[in-house]
Amino acid sequence: MSKPKLALYWASSCGGCEIAVLSLHEKILDVAAAFDIVFWPCVMDFKYADVEAMEDGEIDVCLFNGAIRNDENAHLAHLLRKKSKVLVAFGACAFGGSMPGLANFADREQIFDFVYKESPSTVNPDGVVPQKISNVDEGELTLPTFWNTVKTLAQVVPVDYYLPGCPPEASSIEIAVNAIVTGQLPPPGSVIGPEVTVCDECSRTKSEKKIKRFYRPQEIIPNDEECLLEQGLFCAGIATRAGCGALCPSVGMGCRGCYGPNEGVIDHGAKLLTGIASVLDANTPEEVDAILDTLPDPAGYFYRFHLPDSLLRRKARKNGQKLIESAAEPA
Ligand code: SF4
Repeated sequence: MSKPKLALYWASSCGGCEIAVLSLHEKILDVAAAFDIVFWPCVMDFKYADVEAMEDGEIDVCLFNGAIRNDENAHLAHLLRKKSKVLVAFGACAFGGSMPGLANFADREQIFDFVYKESPSTVNPDGVVPQKISNVDEGELTLPTFWNTVKTLAQVVPVDYYLPGCPPEASSIEIAVNAIVTGQLPPPGSVIGPEVTVCDECSRTKSEKKIKRFYRPQEIIPNDEECLLEQGLFCAGIATRAGCGALCPSVGMGCRGCYGPNEGVIDHGAKLLTGIASVLDANTPEEVDAILDTLPDPAGYFYRFHLPDSLLRRKARKNGQKLIESAAEPA
């Protein structure tokens, strides 16, 4: 009997999700035994034309990691959606936009100006910026069109399942692969993972949380027993889906929220914000301000992994440009 066909693709992301698959160690052999890997450009020499030549629905499962930042990402999202029976948003970038999505606090022009002209390490006296088409002696070169707004995979094509994490832990990948192999997948549209929060799987002792100030990780050495938030270290475990085993809190680093919102939460950042607000030990607006002044980069803390799929989606553009683009609109 032929094996089910598996595809893996890397769009706008750091590539950690691909490494996470290899972190399965010897269990990667089980994946290789269970599936025919028909597309995985990161590790094997596949071409887009190989996918285009497939029948629609020929791929049984596609693990798609990365946000949608440009029209090449979007083309592959549409192509792999068409060719795959089951499309999984694999990892935080495909699921919620993650760190590539923090670019939604700026627009394309601002990003290009900083990266290619204004950053302290840039030397570009002619102000050259990437062009869609460049004609050189050897012929015409093209680059993907860089979108104004980073989108999640589900904002571009229908997604069947979500596997959170930056990257997903090997144990989470193993659970997902087993569910796929045995056909015991949850209902379509589900996040594959526990419904509870990181706090529920964190072994630190919890008592009443009252915070007078926040500390950055380099400012204190937390004790090994108490909840980190109670010691003044920002920890997103209060509003983040479990599944990682509370790895970061277990080594004294507050959860950063990479598994995204727990079940039933629409906006991860808003939920985190209300959770943190409820533990501030302040009686006046001035005291609230003073505590929040010790929390640098609040947008990065609250929306690090889920800005593009939040209710905000992006910072409003200059000059009254529209706030939210349609999935079909490229830039
Ligand atoms: Fe929750 Fe973080 Fe405290 Fe653990 S350290 S109990 S994850 S807030």
